[in-house]
Amino acid sequence: LNRRLAEFGTTIFAEMSALAVATGAINLGQGFPDTDGPEEIREAAVRALRDGRGNQYPPGPGVPELRTAIAAHQRRRYGLSYDPDTEVLVTAGATEAIAASLLALLEPGDEVVALEPYYDSYAASIALAGGRRVPVTLRPHEGRFRLDLDELRAAVTDRTRLLLINTPHNPTGTVLTRAELAAIAELAVERDLLVVTDEVYEHLVFDDAEHLPLATFPGMRERTVTIGSAGKTYSFTGWKVGWVTAAPALVSAVRSAKQFLTYVSAGPFQYAVAEALALPDSYYDGLRRSLRERRDILAAGLAEAGFEVFRPAGTYFVTTDIRPLGEKDGFAFCRALPERAGVVAIPNAVFYDDREAGAPFVRFAFCKKEDVLREAAARLRAM
Ligand code: PMP
Ligand code: GLN
Repeated sequence: LNRRLAEFGTTIFAEMSALAVATGAINLGQGFPDTDGPEEIREAAVRALRDGRGNQYPPGPGVPELRTAIAAHQRRRYGLSYDPDTEVLVTAGATEAIAASLLALLEPGDEVVALEPYYDSYAASIALAGGRRVPVTLRPHEGRFRLDLDELRAAVTDRTRLLLINTPHNPTGTVLTRAELAAIAELAVERDLLVVTDEVYEHLVFDDAEHLPLATFPGMRERTVTIGSAGKTYSFTGWKVGWVTAAPALVSAVRSAKQFLTYVSAGPFQYAVAEALALPDSYYDGLRRSLRERRDILAAGLAEAGFEVFRPAGTYFVTTDIRPLGEKDGFAFCRALPERAGVVAIPNAVFYDDREAGAPFVRFAFCKKEDVLREAAARLRAM
């Protein structure tokens, strides 16, 4: 393994999912739903396969039906208008969208300011692109992990090329507020920065939280690369269909990198996701309602088991603090948990450069059936 990647090794998700299989523990580690997405969308994929749509190399930027559907979704939900031909790119999941964006937009040595804790692929993709990551740590404040806008401002230097933002935020469940996003936008405009914003959990927001795309803020439409994924919104994480929307020059740059990573993304699933994007609002309302109930079941169970719970405003993860249990090392806690309680979770420390800062936090996924969550909670209470 070369020097750029040496620090990364195996992802925590592979390690913890393997531990779940080996021990038979309930897997609340890696974030994937235990119920597949809508039947009619699965049928659409089958139809595409059977009718021979997408079984040979689809167009590099994505099939026109899907690009049109992505543009229509951005217009309908957010009033953002993108040209499907020049401002939309289909990728092999959000993971490729992130990697291709950073590979396309960074010069070696450029600094990337990213919210910490950060989704694990960010650090590796920044490293592959030869960039330097500069984390700005979200810290607990009144029950939520909060972005300190002064720290964010202070992190920007003359070497900063872009801000890498994620809202709703994995793993903390924070949804950035209008005021926070406005401040990020002002900073980006003032310092002439690009912004790559990972909004894969855009539809998974609860209670009064509202997802606001950064691209809708003044001055942002032209400098923002927005990333979405069908994995989260439609519960098809195995399909690996993601996308980028941005101004033509940015999409063209990202497409140049994507060409040499995967060239194209799998064809038949693109046709099915195009149909998913046209689902009525009732689909999203139902998903949100069902996830909110499951969040509440898991959050209550974790609190009863003695964890401090940070109730997430978005995503399907809940971050906890294990110190009330007399624990302080999330890594050791998560490695022991399958044997000790029959449950798998993720130590948030893997998402930090400052491992000390992340040490006491542990993440549980609640995109699981209610009885699975109840059983996991019972096991944790009994531990
Ligand atoms: N970004 C974030 C914040 C995520 O949580 C994930 C998946 N867990 C991804 C990107 C990757 O998405 P995909 O599966 O579409 O590659
Ligand atoms: N994004 C998912 C999570 O945070 C995992 C995806 C992966 O395994 N890379 O759990």
